[in-house]
Amino acid sequence: MQNDFFSTDEFSARQKSGLQQAINHAFNNSPFYRRVFEQAGLEPADIKNPADFSRVPFTTKNDLREAYPYGMAAVPLDKILRIHASSGTTGKPIVAGYTRSDLDTWAIGVARICEMAGVSAKDIAQISFGYGLFTGGFGLHYGLEQLGATVVPFSSGNTERQLTLMQDFKTNVLVSTPSFAIYMAETARELGYNPREFGLRIGLFGGEPCSDALRKDIEAQWGLKATVNYGLTEVVGPGISGECLETAGMHILEDLYYPEVIDPDTGELLPDGEKGELVLTPMFKEGFPVLRYRTGDITRLIPEKCACGRTTRRMDYITGRSDDMIIIKGVNIFPSQVEEVLAGFKEVSPHYRLVLKKEKGFIKDLEIQIELTEEGFTDSYKELEALDGRIRQRLRSTLSLAPKVKLMEPKSLERTTGKAKRIVED
Ligand code: ADP
Ligand code: ZN
Repeated sequence: MQNDFFSTDEFSARQKSGLQQAINHAFNNSPFYRRVFEQAGLEPADIKNPADFSRVPFTTKNDLREAYPYGMAAVPLDKILRIHASSGTTGKPIVAGYTRSDLDTWAIGVARICEMAGVSAKDIAQISFGYGLFTGGFGLHYGLEQLGATVVPFSSGNTERQLTLMQDFKTNVLVSTPSFAIYMAETARELGYNPREFGLRIGLFGGEPCSDALRKDIEAQWGLKATVNYGLTEVVGPGISGECLETAGMHILEDLYYPEVIDPDTGELLPDGEKGELVLTPMFKEGFPVLRYRTGDITRLIPEKCACGRTTRRMDYITGRSDDMIIIKGVNIFPSQVEEVLAGFKEVSPHYRLVLKKEKGFIKDLEIQIELTEEGFTDSYKELEALDGRIRQRLRSTLSLAPKVKLMEPKSLERTTGKAKRIVED
């Protein structure tokens, strides 16, 4: 859509007025932000340009938790048409409320993301994201409808029936988490089907990281083009950024969301290209506005222009969320680092988990449970031990730490129909 091709001047003008509008609305209508501005000794008139915007204090996950349930509202509740809440992967849920205009803009944004990924009004899209408080299901649903695609609102779970309907309905677009896409392919094979014969054309994957190895695996299993998109409840839901068919980073809908990347320790703004924590400001939101929300997601803004010709900046794939960072013996570890190492071994599957052994609140030990593939599974103790040794060595050099490794039988780790749970406590 045309907004993705705006000139730099057009973007600057949009962002300038968009940020001003967001600030004025929050200051005038949200008791929470009125307080934030007063405590910072700021007035909306002090922020004349995006360059001044960094004077606005950050909003954190904790702020939103404390505002439970309606403390972030900036309109009377009768103007709120829908409520969502974060799926609570980590901690207490966070509530978001949407006005009619919020829902409309959100749907248009998601439609743009789907279109970028190559989906059109001719497609039949099965939504295997959960429908409910989670923003994934409804978010993609209204976006795809907006685009004119045929929507099959299956929701998550009930894998066998999903597969049957997928064939009967001639679904050619799949919306799910990457881990569910792999699980569905596994189930299809167990039932004697060849997933490549289903006719899936495009995958719209989101909600959790998708490593290169996982993406390749999904593409090979289903014979589809996998695209990744990103979003979070606190800012709106899915549809903040997504891949075009170049699949080289996710274009941010910059006319709707103002992105910044900061040093997570100092809060300092980082230039494009440098890795840090993503901070987002939705510029259109009436219901529960947020300014400078610290997403906890680690990424960078890609300075180069995309080959597709869109002028919106891209963000790189998320390498971790700060809530998922494990600190053990002073070393910081993200599950994505483990995943990268495992991708180098054909004997192991994309299913793994990090088991934390805690003592007095501290992580004392880390065990990485790794599932073998059917091909990698062997009765030979010697071979398994050799594999175990090679994996441990690679983990040690990547993580600067020597975790325990436990090789598991194929299909022994719990599967998920939503977001994979990579970290568990023992
Ligand atoms: P929860 O915080 O309970 O998981 P959400 O459903 O709002 O609730 O999830 C948003 C989070 O999911 C993001 O902050 C991010 O960490 C993760 N996420 C969403 N899309 C992606 C993606 N494409 N790549 C990596 N992580 C993602
Ligand atoms: Zn592009």
